[in-house]
Amino acid sequence: MNTYDFHEGTAVSTILIKGARILGGAPADILLRDGVVAETGDLAGARAGQTVDADGLVALPGLVDLHTHLREPGREDAETVETGTQAAARGGYTAVHAMANTSPVADTAGVVEQVWRLGQACGHCDVQPVGAVTSGLEGRQLAELGAMADSAARVRVFSDDGKCVSDAVLMRRALEYVKAFDGVVAQHAQEPRLTEGAQLNEGEVSARLGLTGWPAVAEEAIIARDCLLAAHVGSRLHVCHVSTAGSVEIIRWAKSKGWDVTAEVTPHHLLLTDSCAETSPLGPYNPLYKVNPPLRTADDVRALREALADGTIDCVATDHAPHPVEDKETEWGAAAMGMIGLETALSVVQEAMVETGLLDWAGVADRMSVRPARIGRLAGHGRMIEPGAPANVTLYDPSVRQHVDPSAMVSKSRNTPYEGLTLPGRVVATFLRGRPTVLEGKLV
Ligand SMILES: [Zn+2]
Repeated sequence: MNTYDFHEGTAVSTILIKGARILGGAPADILLRDGVVAETGDLAGARAGQTVDADGLVALPGLVDLHTHLREPGREDAETVETGTQAAARGGYTAVHAMANTSPVADTAGVVEQVWRLGQACGHCDVQPVGAVTSGLEGRQLAELGAMADSAARVRVFSDDGKCVSDAVLMRRALEYVKAFDGVVAQHAQEPRLTEGAQLNEGEVSARLGLTGWPAVAEEAIIARDCLLAAHVGSRLHVCHVSTAGSVEIIRWAKSKGWDVTAEVTPHHLLLTDSCAETSPLGPYNPLYKVNPPLRTADDVRALREALADGTIDCVATDHAPHPVEDKETEWGAAAMGMIGLETALSVVQEAMVETGLLDWAGVADRMSVRPARIGRLAGHGRMIEPGAPANVTLYDPSVRQHVDPSAMVSKSRNTPYEGLTLPGRVVATFLRGRPTVLEGKLV
């Protein structure tokens, strides 16, 4: 007996979640009413339009992704706002930041408002557009940062992701500019000259495979420079997809100085290494493992996990990067870089961080919801499950293990590097402002 007005997107009824373990704690009931968490605790006498049995399930605040490629406008053959946000909801997300490297580029108020409105129309999760730092991602002149910030989309995160803002003067100007509206520049740290033609992490594996190396220093040099620039102008810097142990050291140093620097790590950099390109069950040179920044070494993975656990790295961001089959099922050198990740992120984090004892569920909530919402200045997300908070809730079953089946995914693309693996956990339900977007693991 579910009475929801799906067209308006507002809950007009109540949902009682029975026996959920909030942040992995003792079982409790959660009453969602009128889009907010009304009550938590033992609510045996509570009346609700719908009851959801959450016995044994972990309840987390709805996940927030700072780094999603939804590909619309321009590459609707890879993903659309509709399919990408469906994948997000299936992964337990209630908000995603849509990266700007679309076609046309999201570098004007018009394009970011278009993406924002598409997200609202789809309704599977909130879509917060990221604005480009430079016009056309060309690295020559600043985009209309102020107009995007003032637009209906209220952009606060700016990034040329896919490309690095390599010009130090432009980066400095962008950092200065976004201070006016409490924005943040999210840098894809990749020194372009050091990575010309780069295919795989520069190291023993790339040497054996004969692939041009992508050296760690190309990431670390830009991060060091940008931390110094952010400190110099007193602005906020966010570092996208940190992938090396050296980058972790630089960010740890910048934070120790009190500088306003935050960072993200992807699920794939927490689990996979460059050896996948050589010895995976899917065979050597499989482009499913081709990604930018590249998969690194086991030492890097260890450092990234420790940095996420101790808070040096603030959050997990998927860098969900859908590509159609023809762009991936080709030889390594010609294949597109990137992998999808929204539907597997929580499972990978459970495998890499929870089952290793590095994070508990409260830590997962902090790194996958609270902190990314704070970095993106998303007021309606990243709040703990307590009375008065927006009813953005994910119910997750950590006790199951599932074979990763690309054909069962709802993303329009299938380029998952976890094909053939068994991963823990399953998102059972997702609620966006009290309205279910996923129930019983299926889209509503
Ligand atoms: Zn990137």
